[in-house]
Amino acid sequence: MVTCERCHTPIPAGSKAVRARRGSGQTATICTTCAAELRSKGRVKPPPQQITQKAAAEPVKANNEDSGTRWYKTLGGGFVFLAGAILLYFQLSGLEAGTVSRVRVPWPIVFVYQMFGLWGVVSCFGVFALIFFGWGIAQLFGELGRGS
Ligand SMILES: [Zn+2]
Repeated sequence: MVTCERCHTPIPAGSKAVRARRGSGQTATICTTCAAELRSKGRVKPPPQQITQKAAAEPVKANNEDSGTRWYKTLGGGFVFLAGAILLYFQLSGLEAGTVSRVRVPWPIVFVYQMFGLWGVVSCFGVFALIFFGWGIAQLFGELGRGS
């Protein structure tokens, strides 16, 4: 049995306990009656600004995902990684064969190359491509399933 931390009456199992923010920043479990009372008095602190901004940003993102079809963007990402894998394969194999003297790539790719070599880089990009392809196809079928 949960007891209200404000009025010290047991909260019935059917009734919902409320987590309220105290002035000290800790949360307290209170009954719905106390929650309504605190809310009307305005004693419950409003959430910090950061949370408010985050909450405001989230519905925008959710709306975009609902209204727009995203599967082609995900598949496009898969193609980008596939193209990257092919491009890096030719550049790095050229480097190893001595036909290319210098390859300019971002440092994470250099790191993977130094750790796992040419095929490490190519398979890394290939795995990302497969993830994006699988994800995009799943999104596509999900949208077809919804009938949109
Ligand atoms: Zn109470």
